[in-house]
Amino acid sequence: MKKIRLGISSCLLGEKVRYDGRHKHDSFIRDRLGRYVDFVSVCPEAECGLGIPREAMRLVGDPRDPRLITRNTLIDHTERMKSWSAKRLRGLEKEELCGFIFKSGSPSSGMTGVKVCDETGSRTRKGTGLFARAFMDRFPVLPVEDDVRLHDNRLRENFIERIFTYDRWRRMESSDRTAEKLAEFHARHKLLILSHSRKALTELGALVARGGKERPVELYGSYIETLMNGLKLLATVRKNTDVLMHIMVHFKKVLSGDEKRELLEVIERYNKGQMPLVVPVTLLNHYVRKYRPEYLQDQYYLDPQPHELMLRNHV
Ligand code: SF4
Repeated sequence: MKKIRLGISSCLLGEKVRYDGRHKHDSFIRDRLGRYVDFVSVCPEAECGLGIPREAMRLVGDPRDPRLITRNTLIDHTERMKSWSAKRLRGLEKEELCGFIFKSGSPSSGMTGVKVCDETGSRTRKGTGLFARAFMDRFPVLPVEDDVRLHDNRLRENFIERIFTYDRWRRMESSDRTAEKLAEFHARHKLLILSHSRKALTELGALVARGGKERPVELYGSYIETLMNGLKLLATVRKNTDVLMHIMVHFKKVLSGDEKRELLEVIERYNKGQMPLVVPVTLLNHYVRKYRPEYLQDQYYLDPQPHELMLRNHV
């Protein structure tokens, strides 16, 4: 199967493109996640012609529309960066990306919390790097994260789940867009969506129900926007517990008394923080294989991304 394509700040892959000629290699991203994705490497500062090494820069002015200025010589590279970004983004439209991992803190690549100085040099406010801002404006539904946030287990699990979901979406919508195909996609993602947002599940269900009455281009556009916004909300222990209990109902008639007790105990221990999510999900997958309940067999909630990443061992 074709690998997921993911944009990434070049320095995170170990490329020596930083202002000081160094890199910021991230081993989880490049070496572990890299087994499942093809990276599309982007270094805005090197690619727009500022050279390696180069003078460090910072953001200055209004955090909503800052200027990109060199630290010592005070050269303004804002327009150069903006016009290069517009061109690069047109190229990225053809890359079929399923997300982007940005380098945190960079005045070009940082997606959130980048320091923005006022004219006197005080660092009082936070903003977004110029290329990262342009990317997120151009591709508003694509999942994005940065390297530091990805060290948080919950954010990491959430981001990777979103890129795999987006990849499935891309494959599904790349051929004929029909209401039936959308309904099938939705059916297989119901429990996954529920683990993030009951409200999103309700809204998406209503969209799918209107399927035959809306033009596919609008229907698909509204669906993916609502889906990706819903999946951004973290799947908490409480929400996962609700989904696990919901799944258990589907086994009510087939599990033996012992099996029910064991499953309930495992779910309760997960709910109390005594074991990670992988334990109840593994037990449920065992029962799905054993009893083959139709509704659960194709649910992505039970198998959202490669097990080898062990993301649910830590949440
Ligand atoms: S943070 Fe962005 S601009 Fe800076 S070296 Fe990395 S990829 Fe290049």
